[in-house]
Amino acid sequence: MRASRIRTSQRLAGIGGSATYAVHDLVQSMRAEGKAVLDLGGGDPDFPTAEHIAAAAADSVHAGFTHYTPSRGLPELRTAISEKLLDDNRISTDPGTDVIVTPSAKYALFLALTTILDPGDDILIPTPSWVSYASMAHLVGARPVSVPLRADGGFRLTRKLLDAAVGPRTRAILINTPNNPTGHVLDEQEATDLAAFAIEHDLAIVADEIYEKIIYRGRHISMAAVPGCAERTLTVNGFSKAYAMTGWRLGYIAGPTDVITEVLKAAQHTVGCAGSFVQQGGIAALTGPQGDLLRMVDEYAARRTMIVEGLAALPGVTCTPPDGAFYAFADISGAGRGSDTEFAEWLLTTAGVAVTPGSAFGEGGEGHVRLSFSGPQDVIKEALERIADAFR
Ligand code: PMP
Ligand code: GLU
Repeated sequence: MRASRIRTSQRLAGIGGSATYAVHDLVQSMRAEGKAVLDLGGGDPDFPTAEHIAAAAADSVHAGFTHYTPSRGLPELRTAISEKLLDDNRISTDPGTDVIVTPSAKYALFLALTTILDPGDDILIPTPSWVSYASMAHLVGARPVSVPLRADGGFRLTRKLLDAAVGPRTRAILINTPNNPTGHVLDEQEATDLAAFAIEHDLAIVADEIYEKIIYRGRHISMAAVPGCAERTLTVNGFSKAYAMTGWRLGYIAGPTDVITEVLKAAQHTVGCAGSFVQQGGIAALTGPQGDLLRMVDEYAARRTMIVEGLAALPGVTCTPPDGAFYAFADISGAGRGSDTEFAEWLLTTAGVAVTPGSAFGEGGEGHVRLSFSGPQDVIKEALERIADAFR
């Protein structure tokens, strides 16, 4: 279509599209042209959603469970989430007032930022970070301020880095553990330092815990469970990664009652509720057998070993084994193939392997590429062979 007569918003003019979706779309279009591309781009588990979860949703559709649900989500699902938060995360919530079910964790994050930020406010985002945080901050008129973590510091958060980034307009900090893309899992010291910092500056904490179940080393810490943080933390989580339910679009947000009351207004006016039968699948996921989850994490662990070993064999490439999530964040600055964007393009055209350039993840991501191991071992194996060939 030709140019329209519609003026689009400045907020959108200031941001680009999602880099992870860009890689995804590129892979699809290359495949449509008949090219054999191996996709180590996006983080979408290849496992099918467990049968008991699929059946719960399908049965409910056939039984006519196809209408609006309460805006906060089905009471039974909120109760299951609240119990999960207590058992797994030591976060105490009232399912009646402190939890809202959302269509995706992504939307829960957007609701969180809409609720706690005003135009002109700053939110600290330790980087490298997932591609959508900064853009979401822009969308609500706030300013994302990077806390640039260092690769040679293991991408750890330190009090010094936090102090250097905070300013008079800082209202919140967004923390993602385990981290996408670095795989770093927040440790006790970092959590203690972050809590003291947030309390001192009276900041809200948005904790994105979507990868909490996918950990190979260390243990997950929920910021809302750290002393002094419950009253200032919004916890975001979802079903996409732990239960291989990316296409279902189901997540949730939990936090102090007065904040969740405000989140509810934003949810009611923008989405109403999450899908009714999708929520039935969520109940089955949380209350049903958890065996699939453990099997999936075992499989990710095997893929992680494979990818880390494959990367270690490449000249000029280094990669710290990720402690969590399913991404390898490799330093390719010594590979002699230009910037991370140039490297990713070269890999795609020479080897037919799609990866995500590190600079898409913000400050500190340059010189790296992210390789997702959410896909099967045969694909990873062949991709590593092709990459090794391209290096030769
Ligand atoms: N947070 C992080 C760090 C992610 O990588 C993703 C990507 N799926 C999400 C949130 C959003 O998950 P979803 O919208 O599928 O629930
Ligand atoms: N979170 C995944 C990723 O980082 C899926 C794509 C997205 O939502 O950004 O690749």
